This record gives sequence, structure tokens and C-alpha cells, in this order.
Amino acid sequence: MAKRDYYEVLGIGKNADEVTIKRAYRNLAMKYHPDKNPGDAQAAGKMKEINEAYAVLSDRKKRRLYDTYGHAGLEGYTAEDIFKGVDFADLFREFGFGGSIFDSFFGRGTRRRGRRKAADLRYNLDVTLDEVAFGAEKKVDLPRIKVCPDCRGTGAKEGGLIECRSCHGSGQKVVEQRSGYSIFRQISTCGDCRGRGKVITDPCEQCGGQGSLEKVRQVPVQIPKGAYSGYKIRIEGEGEQGDEMTEPGDLYIVLEVQKHPIFERHGDDIFVPKEIGFPLAALGGKIDDVPSLEGNLELEIFAGTQAGTLFRIMDKGIPHLANSGRGDLYVITKVITPTDLTEKEQELLREFDKVRKQRNKI
Ligand SMILES: [Zn+2]
Ligand SMILES: [Zn+2]
Repeated sequence: MAKRDYYEVLGIGKNADEVTIKRAYRNLAMKYHPDKNPGDAQAAGKMKEINEAYAVLSDRKKRRLYDTYGHAGLEGYTAEDIFKGVDFADLFREFGFGGSIFDSFFGRGTRRRGRRKAADLRYNLDVTLDEVAFGAEKKVDLPRIKVCPDCRGTGAKEGGLIECRSCHGSGQKVVEQRSGYSIFRQISTCGDCRGRGKVITDPCEQCGGQGSLEKVRQVPVQIPKGAYSGYKIRIEGEGEQGDEMTEPGDLYIVLEVQKHPIFERHGDDIFVPKEIGFPLAALGGKIDDVPSLEGNLELEIFAGTQAGTLFRIMDKGIPHLANSGRGDLYVITKVITPTDLTEKEQELLREFDKVRKQRNKI
């Protein structure tokens, strides 16, 4: 039986995002779950189809292969490989089912096989304080050599690979030399096919006969709110690709949060200096230009504020990574002594000073 299109199975469009895919899967799973259809073989078959579609479309790499090559793109994947990476038991707990049905549904065979894995890659990514404060999607460019999909690594067009005539496909050349009564047989690699036994008569246009392509791949990276310097984001399967016998390695994006020109971060709190004039510091009053991650904020300066006083504005810091709360914004006052006094201002200050001295105050 021909396989149905995965998007059709889930009843979604080709551009569906993760949330839509999950919602569609959930709705169908609720309908066809064996729990709700005991003993119904048709529902069970349907469920399998839905699960497979979800396993592929919810996995970025598999989805990309499927989008590009259709079902053929996943030919090299075993059923295990297809379902690997989706924890159905977990999903169904999330949907409100028990996990036991799924253990039996998938057998216990969803474990990773003991395949060799290509190397993991590390990529240091600079991010701004704003990006970790609000979350962001960044793209990283990764150079990557991959097997040419057009010729599947042979380097030739369909039918463009023939047996080497010099070595008749053996990849070796035997040269015999007679010397008196002895014969020397010298075996060497065939120079015409470089030992492959086959020569390309019609090279693949995509890779120019190399069998591999070096491409710069743009990998999208989701910067979570609240991330910090040294925070690692693991992107499965985006490491070194290896060959057909190896599983691709993973990509680790390590974040480095750049220094902000005015804000200083301590944990999830942010500190910002704020200059105020000494009359305001002495008399108190409202200001409306305290810099924050979200533009200027108002702040009530109390009378008699000293230099270096800390004002705390709640929930205006960096969002916590682990939960929905946020850190705070601390405003540190810097009381400015004027250096550009006019005659009039000097006079007023002298007068002020005189009055203070009469009260024996500084
Ligand atoms: Zn090619
Ligand atoms: Zn040859």
C-alpha cells in the first residue's frame, strides 16, 4: 500500500508550525487512541500512521528530508530511527493518558541502536542582553560537507557510471615482468579509476562528480529567555554528518552574552546607574527617564537621597529561565555636582550655604 502524505495524515498544511503539528496530532490521537477504541484494528492502524507522521514532522531534520525528497528521503531510516526522539509516553501523559498503553504499543524497541555517532560540534554564539531578555531566533552558518543527494555519493548521473576498462572493475592493475626464468607480478592501484573499479562517464551536475557537496547551512537557534553566558543549546543531528553508517553528531551552541553599554547583569537582576541633580536628591521628586530593557520608567526619588542609593523596580530584570518570573531592576543614584554654575546660581548657593551655616549644618 502506498504511503500517504504525512501532512495529509495529520490534516495540516505544509507550512504548519510546531504548535499546529502537535495540536493536530493531539486531536487525532484523542480520537484513534487504542484506549478509546479497544480491539479496533482499524483504529490501531490509523494510530500508527498518525504516530509516524508526527514523529517525522515534529523532528526538524526528518521533516526537512521529507519535505525535500518525500518518503524516499527517509528510506535509510528504520522504524526505530523514525520514532527515536519522540517520547510518546511523555506526550500522552501530557495529553492525559497513562503511559502503559504506549509501552505495549511501541514495544520496547524505541531505544537508540548502538550505531556509531559522528563528532559533536561546538559553536560559540554572541548574543545581546536584549536577546536573552526577550528571547530571539538567531541563525548560525555552518559549513558542512554532505553526501550529494542527486547522485547519492557516486558522483555520476543515473547510468553515468561504467566499469573501468583498464582494470575490468577490479580497481587493480597487474603488471608481469619476466627476468630470466622468474616472473615478477606487480599489483598496483588502477590509475584510471583510482581503485574504484568504475569510472564516471557522465558526471553529476550537482556535485561536479565529487559525490559530496560543501554547503553552508543556516541553522536556526532559539535563544531562550533568561539564558546566560555559558548556556548550552543542543541541536540534535546538526553536528558532523559522518557517512551512511554513522549517526550525525549533535551541535552545541554555547552562548556568550555581550556586555551591555549601560546595564549590568547579576543573576537575573539588572543594575543601572542614574544621574540626578543635588536639588532633586535633597528635595525628592518623580523622574520618568530611568532606562530599562523596555524603555524609560518612572521612579519616585525620596527627599534626602544620597549618592549610591539603590532603588529597586520589581520584575523589570531578566526573565527567569526556569519559571515565569523575572528579576528586578536596581537603579543606583549618582548625585551630580554642577560644574557650570552661573553668577545667579553661585549667589543662590552662597546664600543657601550661609543659611545652613547659621544652623550649624553642612
Ligand atoms: Zn552528485
Ligand atoms: Zn580501473
